[in-house]
Amino acid sequence: PSNIKDLIATVPQVYWEDIGGNAKIKKQLIECVEWPLKYPESFKRIGIKAPQGILLYGPPGCSKTLMAKALATESKLNFISIKGPELFSKYVGDTEKAIREIFRKARISSPCIIFFDEIDAMASARGDDDTSVGDRALCQLLTEMDGIEEKSQVIVIAATNRLDILDKAILRPGRFDRHIEIPFPDDEGKLEILEIGCRDMPLAEDVDLTAIAKRTTFFSGADIALVCREAGLLAIREDIETKEVKMCHFEEALQSVKTRKR
Ligand code: ATP
Repeated sequence: PSNIKDLIATVPQVYWEDIGGNAKIKKQLIECVEWPLKYPESFKRIGIKAPQGILLYGPPGCSKTLMAKALATESKLNFISIKGPELFSKYVGDTEKAIREIFRKARISSPCIIFFDEIDAMASARGDDDTSVGDRALCQLLTEMDGIEEKSQVIVIAATNRLDILDKAILRPGRFDRHIEIPFPDDEGKLEILEIGCRDMPLAEDVDLTAIAKRTTFFSGADIALVCREAGLLAIREDIETKEVKMCHFEEALQSVKTRKR
């Protein structure tokens, strides 16, 4: 696919404090990505290898992408991001070439994270037809991962909403052998996501974020972030000169996001 040629490594601008909740997950990621890069001697002394591939799984809109980006920002790593479906090309051989190119770019930009979003598109359980483009892509990905040398400082992070359909071959040791679940936010997480979403908003005195958080059952982080944006927009729509967002705007925003989710 031609878009791969223009692929560039960047350093994202997402910080840990931009992600609400999930404190344990943040810590786990720091330990398995940042520590081995920062303290390679300690890992050598103790005789353990850093995980090369990390799989983040969980429902959509719950910060898998944010986590991968924050890891790159905070650990000062370059970041290359690809969505599984983007890789497919109808021309035989192009998909494999694209994957080789991604890893080549990552090596020259190292230390670097390669983030494969929607990896399930590429790595779902192989069907009968093992010449499918998904299959060939998967084989090439596994070859590249097997070929990563520890000193190359290339870390592969993949994300999926569908752990159940992933081909077991990619979960084997030496490949994506660290699996981290990123679930729906808990109550504390929800409140933090609301606080982040309202960070730059002048809030009226009647706004009770704890009460709003309690009314977001089955909301993902993305849904909660949307409630904040929607409340802000409703306030402006009511009065273009408004200087604050009120509880009634949040009430209405909650309803509209709930309806949209149905
Ligand atoms: P998908 O599976 O759909 O790719 P994802 O798990 O990768 O989703 P993100 O792209 O990280 O989800 O999150 C989408 C948006 O939702 C973010 O840009 C952010 O606005 C908001 N969001 C989700 N979770 C959080 C969180 N824990 N803290 C703050 N914002 C969040």
